[in-house]
Amino acid sequence: MVWKDDMLDDLREAANQIDKAVENHGGDMARKMMEGEYPSDWPEIAKRIKDKAGWQCERRGHTHDPESGYCLTVHHLVPMKSLCEDWNLAALCQRCHLHIQGKVNMFQGYMLPHSKWFIPHLEGFLEWRRENVGF
Ligand SMILES: [Zn+2]
Repeated sequence: MVWKDDMLDDLREAANQIDKAVENHGGDMARKMMEGEYPSDWPEIAKRIKDKAGWQCERRGHTHDPESGYCLTVHHLVPMKSLCEDWNLAALCQRCHLHIQGKVNMFQGYMLPHSKWFIPHLEGFLEWRRENVGF
């Protein structure tokens, strides 16, 4: 699957729909998404994601090296702790984690980077959105 511009249009539309839903439900949806619980097997899930990434930051390739300030973490792109599909979890060093957390909102297409590492996550997101959000 190749990156297509119409994915961005899809995402913009999704962002609008989500904004409306959040307005209509008084922020309940946003709150629900931010809260939630880590699954009981979260440590195993996090280890699997790090193993899959070869213990390197997906974004910049930093090797896991806490002593040098590059501690590998697992970031939820859509901030639902219980949403632990592979596409939603990115192995990022702490620095990239903070950067991405502050910058990337999966529901705001215009904010998405076109970085290569990100595309499989986006594809998974779009599939999930079609199946679960209905558009
Ligand atoms: Zn990094």
